[in-house]
Amino acid sequence: MNENQTIAAISTAMAPGGIGMIRISGEESMLVADKVFRSVSGRKLVDFKGYTGAYGKVYDEEGEIDECVAFVYRAPHSYTGENVVELCCHGGVYLVKRALRACIDAGARPAEPGEFTKRAFLNGKMGLTQAEAVMDLISAQGSHGAKAALSAREGAIYRKIHGVADQLLAVSAALAAWTDYPDEDIEEVSDENLSRSLTEVKNNLEQILRDYDTGKILREGVETVIIGRPNVGKSTLMNLLSGTQKSIVTQIPGTTRDVVEETIQLGEVILNLADTAGIHQTDDPVEKMGVELANQRLDRSYLILAVFDSSDILTEEDKELIDKVKDRPVIAIINKTDLERKIELDYIRERIPCIVELSAAAGDGIDQLSSAIFDLLALSRSSQDEGIIANERQRLCVVNCLKSVQEALDAWTMGETLDALGVCIDEAIDHLLVLTGERATQAVVDEVFSRFCVGK
Ligand code: GDP
Repeated sequence: MNENQTIAAISTAMAPGGIGMIRISGEESMLVADKVFRSVSGRKLVDFKGYTGAYGKVYDEEGEIDECVAFVYRAPHSYTGENVVELCCHGGVYLVKRALRACIDAGARPAEPGEFTKRAFLNGKMGLTQAEAVMDLISAQGSHGAKAALSAREGAIYRKIHGVADQLLAVSAALAAWTDYPDEDIEEVSDENLSRSLTEVKNNLEQILRDYDTGKILREGVETVIIGRPNVGKSTLMNLLSGTQKSIVTQIPGTTRDVVEETIQLGEVILNLADTAGIHQTDDPVEKMGVELANQRLDRSYLILAVFDSSDILTEEDKELIDKVKDRPVIAIINKTDLERKIELDYIRERIPCIVELSAAAGDGIDQLSSAIFDLLALSRSSQDEGIIANERQRLCVVNCLKSVQEALDAWTMGETLDALGVCIDEAIDHLLVLTGERATQAVVDEVFSRFCVGK
């Protein structure tokens, strides 16, 4: 693939719409466009200044394709930093495909996924996190995602991560000065200063990871499982939450044999809910599979709604479930509060502090459940301002940086040489610069842009 060649792609959606746009980028954009576009004035696009446009028609060898408005952008003042022409036709799939083919016949190469933004990155128009934010903006499903992506697009992640990298650079510089010029009158790196700086960096990195988890939950929802022995009201709760009759509700224990999945918005939180067969002993082979699925779903859930029947005393199965989940993010739901209470609430409360009493059949208690979830997951908007890292690639860089900082702290505590310490700190800086793209390898860059759509 020639990175310097002029490229072209359809940048609007491949569906009928008001406008369909073909973007051409590269040194020869105007030359290519002039072969397919004729302005009504007869002027050639190569003679146009940047940020100007012309009305005319696009053609191929067979003749007229459509009316068209062409916009000219001159390097470096364009999205990609190269010469760019945007040809805007009517948004018919046939029309734009034919116009694109004409551009290819005129000498452009079809663009790879994300190649326009990749060129923008390589030409220094934006950093890697800003480039990633472009795709996040396009795929944002709701206000949280869109807001976070827009602030990342404006450089919030870059600034936040660079702030931490600068803290590390200051430590690294102090160490280097002290080790390289021992005779100079440079203040000795004190135990206290060094461990304070590194601990501060560590705290910042941990906060960045926490904010990422919270942001992810608010954007994408939290993996949630409804669990409990048969007949406590799991399916009724699921139906209440989802507002449909998705799970089959019967009085025969063990009816829900599959895992029923549903995404619901509960207050401010999106729950990716799974109603399960419940975890219990059974000889029925089909039910056994359901129990196995429930166990798997339980393991990978971030939030557990453990349901109990208020009108019954706790069974051995209930107690086993409590033991299994008590150290995870769990809410004990005491269902059937419309019936006389027999359940030993204190037994549960001692092990699962977060309890919500409700009647799924009557539809009571959903608001309490919603705020309990918000509190349990410590979802607070205040931490959701700016600069939240956006994806697993970025998270991994922060995790690796945190590891190196911890190694540096350990090295210092164990009295290792300043050189050894310096190596750990430089590694930590490196991970952050991979995140921002300043030291990202070709492979990392290719990976990032391979996830883009064609035309962006
Ligand atoms: P699951 O096996 O845990 O999924 O339980 P189901 O949702 O199938 O409910 C079992 C039985 O309990 C059904 O007859 C429900 O109508 C009943 N039930 C569920 N929730 C309540 C409730 O809040 N109050 C009362 N009285 N009955 C309920």
